[in-house]
Amino acid sequence: KLTPRLEAVANLVDDQVKMADIGSDHAYLATYLVEQKKSPEAIVGEVAKGPLNNAKHTVQAQGVSAHIECRLADGLAALTPEDKVQSVVIAGMGGLLIKKILDAKKDLGPFPQLVLQPNTDQDALRAWLIDNGYAIKHEEMVAEGRHRYEIIVARPGAQTLSRADLTFGPVLRKEQGDIFKAKWQHERARYAQVVDRLEQSGQTNLPKYQEVKDWIKAIDEEVFHG
Ligand code: SAM
Repeated sequence: KLTPRLEAVANLVDDQVKMADIGSDHAYLATYLVEQKKSPEAIVGEVAKGPLNNAKHTVQAQGVSAHIECRLADGLAALTPEDKVQSVVIAGMGGLLIKKILDAKKDLGPFPQLVLQPNTDQDALRAWLIDNGYAIKHEEMVAEGRHRYEIIVARPGAQTLSRADLTFGPVLRKEQGDIFKAKWQHERARYAQVVDRLEQSGQTNLPKYQEVKDWIKAIDEEVFHG
């Protein structure tokens, strides 16, 4: 059984295609996909030996080693064109790291589907996708414990995104779901605290002050239509 975050990622992976999970740690995702018969075959990539051993352990213990290959490699170097992987998942990392992993091996792509779950810097990752021949086709926001996670599904295509699309997500901001609103309410409260602190200490001349005010304005316009 997967956590809600990984389950949401799993549900978005294209059916019946060879998939890869880059930075898989325990390989829970790939194992689940194979066990559910959603993915016939998977490659899991890990840059670190400890997590790779975790992956190998899960794959063996679950008896799916005929369907899942575990490879030690940095990012997409785990894959070759001959693998013909059609869906690549990169989840549970910072958006800048995901962007770096995609950018380092641009020649391998474009992949028919990317399922990305960046923990931070979603805007920079969206900008990379648009600049590199992908279009964002679907997005989801999932709550798990106190956290809210964004999942982005991209496919080859052309798309133009506004600044607000990059920040809030073209699909998420259109849908304005409850978890989306809760996330930005939470972020707004955090920024408001910073504003208070800077005002109380007379530091309103700092660039940070304007930056945070701008965030609050953007959130109010987007999410609260203020
Ligand atoms: N993808 C899983 C998930 O979403 O639950 C595991 C996320 S875990 C927090 C991040 C994993 O990414 C770690 O196991 C780490 O070793 C791996 N990782 C970090 N940078 C990587 C890279 N350049 N290539 C492959 N794996 C990487």
